[in-house]
Amino acid sequence: MTGDHQPAPDLVRPCDIRGLLHSHSGYADGVHSLHRMVEIARELGLEYLGISDHLRSERHPDGLDHDGEAAQRAEITELKREFPDFDLLHGLEVYAEPDGELRLPNGIADHLDYLLVSLPDPEGHTTESFTEAALRVIRHPEVDILSRPLGCYMLSKPPVPLDMERVLRAAAESGTVIELDANPACNDLDGTHCRLAVDLGVWLAINPNARRAARLVDYRQGVEIARSMGLDCRWIVNTLTADQLRDRLRGQRRAG
Ligand SMILES: [Zn+2]
Repeated sequence: MTGDHQPAPDLVRPCDIRGLLHSHSGYADGVHSLHRMVEIARELGLEYLGISDHLRSERHPDGLDHDGEAAQRAEITELKREFPDFDLLHGLEVYAEPDGELRLPNGIADHLDYLLVSLPDPEGHTTESFTEAALRVIRHPEVDILSRPLGCYMLSKPPVPLDMERVLRAAAESGTVIELDANPACNDLDGTHCRLAVDLGVWLAINPNARRAARLVDYRQGVEIARSMGLDCRWIVNTLTADQLRDRLRGQRRAG
């Protein structure tokens, strides 16, 4: 961590985080209603929340299909009316196939603010094959955020065979945001990755992957992780306003 040294004044602070881009609701694999998630996010002082439930798949049979996505979109519109001082971004989380391909039903992403993609299970992959799968995800024109590339495999499995330098260079080229998982147990990106990301101009998102409202606050642990790596606000995408973020995500899709 930062030791006894006084942190530089421009290190990212919890109050710099305006919103979160990875959370789940009762529509799919989360516990709480959208309404409850919004209430807690507002109490935390956030300005917006991105809801990113899973797309229905073999891995997530209770995930969203077209009808679920449309119903969620309608409720998001209602909630924006109910809470005019708060914004909601409508996202979707998708697991990539083992080779990095995405199985997206036609039109599923048309109304979304963003698409967040998680990598497949690394088991059986070599560093070359898993890195190629990750690069395919990053270069996909519909993908906005690569979710925790190294996260949440560490506790029970060997290190993820991923060439992070190639991943970050590809993300810099495509404008794809790389997620920094806020859960310290995930052992996600390390300081070397974060410094390289900043040097290359890769946007990072500090996200809690919250499946219940009480876990939204985990982003503050993510900020501590980011501070320990010397990160300031410049390349942390959720220090942007919701409108700035929408413009950036759309701009990335156009570029793709
Ligand atoms: Zn998730």
